[in-house]
Amino acid sequence: MAEFHKIFEALKWASSFLRENGRDENIGEMLLCHYLGMNRAKLLAELREDLDDQVKAKFVEDIDQVVSGVPVQHIIGYEEFYGRRFLVNEEVLIPRPETEELVQGLLARIERLFGATKVIKVVDVGTGSGAISVSLALENQQLDVMTVDIAKTSIDVAQENAGQLGAKIRFFEGDLLGPLVAEGMKVDVVVSNPPYIPEEDIATLSTVVKDHEPLRALVGGRDGLDFYRRFMKEIPLVLNEKGIVAFEVGVGQGEAVAEMLSDSFLGAKVEVVNDINGKDRMVFAEIGF
Ligand code: GLN
Repeated sequence: MAEFHKIFEALKWASSFLRENGRDENIGEMLLCHYLGMNRAKLLAELREDLDDQVKAKFVEDIDQVVSGVPVQHIIGYEEFYGRRFLVNEEVLIPRPETEELVQGLLARIERLFGATKVIKVVDVGTGSGAISVSLALENQQLDVMTVDIAKTSIDVAQENAGQLGAKIRFFEGDLLGPLVAEGMKVDVVVSNPPYIPEEDIATLSTVVKDHEPLRALVGGRDGLDFYRRFMKEIPLVLNEKGIVAFEVGVGQGEAVAEMLSDSFLGAKVEVVNDINGKDRMVFAEIGF
C-alpha cells in the first residue's frame, strides 16, 4: 500500500498519482474533506495530523477508482449545483457548472420580463438529477415548475433531491413535451439542457463521462441538434403568447440553434450567450414581448 501517514503526505501522493493518469488532481482534497467531514480550510489546518488507518485504506481505494475513470461524484454520491447538494448516480448526468449559468441567465430574464406576474409556469425538459428544476423552484417562489424525463430511473433521483431540498415540482414521465401536449397544458417558460453531443464525438469523450454517465443524456443525433429540431415543432404547442425559451447548447452550436428559434418564432429576440470560458453555451429567446 502507498507509504504515507500524514494528511499532507496523502494529498501529495494522490495529486501526483491523479495527475500522471490525466485526472483532476484536486480530487484527493475533495475526498479527504468528505471522509473527515471537514471543509477545505479545516483540512489545510490539519495537514500535519496522522490519517486514521481506516480512512487511509478507503482513500487509497477511492483514488484507485477515480484513476480507473469513476467520477468522484459517484464515489461521494453528490455534486454541488447552485449552492446546493444534489444526489447523483449512473442514471443522471452529473450537473455541470456551465448549467448554473443557464439557470442564472434564465432567472434574470424571468424577473425582467415577468416581474410582477404572480405565477409563472415553467417546464424543464430532461429532468436528470433535478438540478435545473429544483434550483429554479427554490430561487424564485413565483415559479410553478414542471419537469419531464423519459427515464423513470432519473425521475427517482430528481424526486429524492426535490424532497430533500424542499422544492415543490410536478414530475412527468415522457418524451420531450409530449406529456404537456397530451394534457393540453400551457407554460410561460421552456428550459432544457438536452443531449447535444454529436454521435461521432462520443468516442472522443473521456471514459469518466462516456462509461459512467447515461448516453441518453449526452447523444443528440448525428450533428447533436436533433432535440432542438424536435423542440421547434413541440414548443409552439405549449408556449403561451409571451414566453421564454432557454437552451444549453454545445460549443459551436449557438448560431444554428439561434437560427432555428428565429425561424420558428418570428419577431423573437434571440441571444447566444457565452459561458465564463468564452464558449457559446446558452441560447435564450424572448417571444411575444
Ligand atoms: N456538457 C456535457 C458534457 O460535455 C454534455 C451535456 C449535454 O449533452 N447536454 O459532457
